[in-house]
Amino acid sequence: MRNPYSKTDKTIAYLNKQYAKLFRRVTSFDELNVIPVSHEIYDEVRKIVEQEATRLVKSVYDSYRESEALPASEAHEMVVALFGAYNPVTKYVYENELDRKRSRFAEGVISSDTPREEVALAKRLLAAMNKQFADDATFDAVVKAYEDDGVKRVKWITAEDDRRCKECKARHNKIYNIDNIPPKPHLHCRCYVEKVEKKKQEAVEE
Ligand SMILES: [Zn+2]
Repeated sequence: MRNPYSKTDKTIAYLNKQYAKLFRRVTSFDELNVIPVSHEIYDEVRKIVEQEATRLVKSVYDSYRESEALPASEAHEMVVALFGAYNPVTKYVYENELDRKRSRFAEGVISSDTPREEVALAKRLLAAMNKQFADDATFDAVVKAYEDDGVKRVKWITAEDDRRCKECKARHNKIYNIDNIPPKPHLHCRCYVEKVEKKKQEAVEE
C-alpha cells in the first residue's frame, strides 16, 4: 500500500500559508495590541487546524477503508479527541501547548528588542507543532480504517528517508496487534502501518 502522508503534505502546506496570513495582524508591537491579537491569531489557528485535520482524517480514512466512508462528524470527533489527549511522542497535550505557545509569543514580542524575529519564531514553532499534529492524525486515521474493517494485525513500515527514521529501522516489517501499536519513537517520524492480510495473519498465528 502507498504511503499515507501525501495528503498530509497538502494539508500542511495549506496550513502554513494560513498562519503566515494571520501573523500579518501583528501591526504594532505594544502590549495593548499584542495580547488581544495573539488570542485572535491562536484561536483562529486552532479553528483552521480543526477544520483541515477533520478533512484530512476523513480523506485518509476513506482511502484506506474497504467499503464505508467515515461520517464527517466522526472525523471531527477524532480530531477534537486528539486535541485534548496527551501525546506520548510530543509529551504534551496539543490544546495546552497551543496556549503556551501563544503566551510565549505575546511575551516574546513585548519584551524583545527584535519583535519581528519573535513573530518569525512563533510561525516556525507553530508550523512544526501542526505538522506533527497532521502526521499523527494521518497515522490514527489509517489505524481506525483498518480497525473498522476488522484488521487484527499490522506491519510497521519505516519511512523511506532512513536518516530521519534511524530509530525506526529496528521496527521495519515488525508485526503488531492493531490494539497494541507502540507510539512513534521520535518527533517527525513518518512511519506508518500496513494491514496484514488474513492469510498471512493465519500463518503468523500457526
Ligand atoms: Zn519512523
